Amino acid sequence: MTSDTVKKTHKVTLIPGDGIGPEITEAMKAVIAASGAQIEWEVQHAGEAALEATGELLPDAVLESIRRNKVALKGPLTTPIGHGFRSLNVTLRKVLDLYTNIRPAQSFRGTGARYDGVDIVLFRENTEDLYAGIEFEKGSEGVQRISDVVEDLTGVSIREDAGLSLKPISVFGTRRIMKAAMDYAVANDRKKVTIIHKANIMKHTDGLFLRVCREVAAEYAEIAPEIEIDDLIVDFACTRLVTNPERFDVLVCPNLFGDIVSDLCAGLVGGLGLAPGANIGEDCALFEPVHGSAPSYAGQNLSNPTALILSAVMMLRHLGEQSAAERVHKAIAEIIDEGAAITYDLMRMREGTTDGASGTKEYAEAIVERLSR
Ligand code: NAP
Repeated sequence: MTSDTVKKTHKVTLIPGDGIGPEITEAMKAVIAASGAQIEWEVQHAGEAALEATGELLPDAVLESIRRNKVALKGPLTTPIGHGFRSLNVTLRKVLDLYTNIRPAQSFRGTGARYDGVDIVLFRENTEDLYAGIEFEKGSEGVQRISDVVEDLTGVSIREDAGLSLKPISVFGTRRIMKAAMDYAVANDRKKVTIIHKANIMKHTDGLFLRVCREVAAEYAEIAPEIEIDDLIVDFACTRLVTNPERFDVLVCPNLFGDIVSDLCAGLVGGLGLAPGANIGEDCALFEPVHGSAPSYAGQNLSNPTALILSAVMMLRHLGEQSAAERVHKAIAEIIDEGAAITYDLMRMREGTTDGASGTKEYAEAIVERLSR
C-alpha cells in the first residue's frame, strides 16, 4: 500500500446506551466495519450500564473522551418519566454546548410508509427553551419566590399548587441555530427554510425566535437569493406536514417544537426505526438516533438498527468519509427496497404483519453482505 492509499483512522467515542442500545450498536459496528472507513471505537458507558459499573450515570470519563475525540456516536439512554434524574441526553447536549440538532427525515423506497419523496431536514435549537432544565417543584421556595415576582410585575397570580418550567429563548441561541440551518441550506442546494414557532401566543420567546431568524435570513439574501424563507405556526405546520410533506425542505425550530415535530417527521417516512440525528457544537459532535431505549424490546434481537446506522452515516460525512457514507446509505436503501431481510417495524408497515421479519443482527448481516459485493 502506498502512502496515498493509507486510510486515516478516526477515533470515535461510542456509547452503546440502554435498552435496545447495545444490540443496535453491535449491528451498527458490523456495518461500519464493512463500509471501508477506518473507525477506532473508544467505548464509554453512560446510563444504566455506567451506574452499575461505577455508581455514576454520567462518569467524567465519558465527557473527557468526547472532548478528546471530538466525535461521538451514542445509543439511546433511558430517562425516568415525571420523576428521578434529569435526561442524560439533555445534559450531554448542554454540557458540550451541542447547540445544533439535525434530524433528517428522508423516504426510502419500499418501506410502505404513507408518503414517498419526503426529504425534510429539521434543525432544532438544542440548549434553550423549556428544555433548558430550569424547573421548580410544586410547593418549593422557587415557585413561591417566582410567583411573588410575577404577581408583582404582571398582576397575574400563579396557583399555589403549580410547578414551574421556564422557557428562555435568546437572540444568541436563535442566531446560531438559524445560521446553522442557512449554512446547511446553502451548502446542500436546498430551496426553502421554514421557521416553526408559536409567536402569536409567546411573543417574547417564540416572537423573538421568529424575528431573529428572519434577520439572519436577510443576511443571506445576497449570497443565497434563491432560498425561500417562510414561517408557520407550529400547530398548522403539523397539519401541513401530514397533508403535504413534499412542500417542506429545511425546518428550523425552537427546542421543544423541534423535538415533537421531528418525531412527526419520522412517522412520515416510516417511523423511529429510520430516524437518525446529529448534535453539533463548535468543538464536538455527537450522533444519535431520534428514538429512545425501547426497554420492552431490549435483548430480543428485534429492533431496527437503521436509525443508529444512519446516524453513523451522518458521522462518516462529518469525518469526510463521503464514499463510505454513500455506500452504506445505498446498501440500506437496497435492502429495504428488496424487503427480504427487514426488521419487524418495516415488515409490519410493508406487509401488515411481522411474520417473516428478520432480527436486528440478520438485517445488519444483509447490509454487510451487500457492502462486500
Ligand atoms: P422509544 O424508546 O423511542 O420507543 C417508542 C416506540 O418507537 C417503540 O415502542 C417502537 O414502536 C418504536 N421504536 C423505537 N425505536 C425503534 C427501533 N430502533 N426499531 C423499531 N421501532 C422502534 O420511546 P419511549 O418508549 O417513549 O422511551 C423509552 C425511553 O427512551 C425513555 O426513558 C425516554 O426518556 C428515552 N428516550 C431517549 C432518547 C435518547 O436517548 N436520545 C430519545 C427518546 C427517548 P412499536 O412498539 O410500535 O414498534
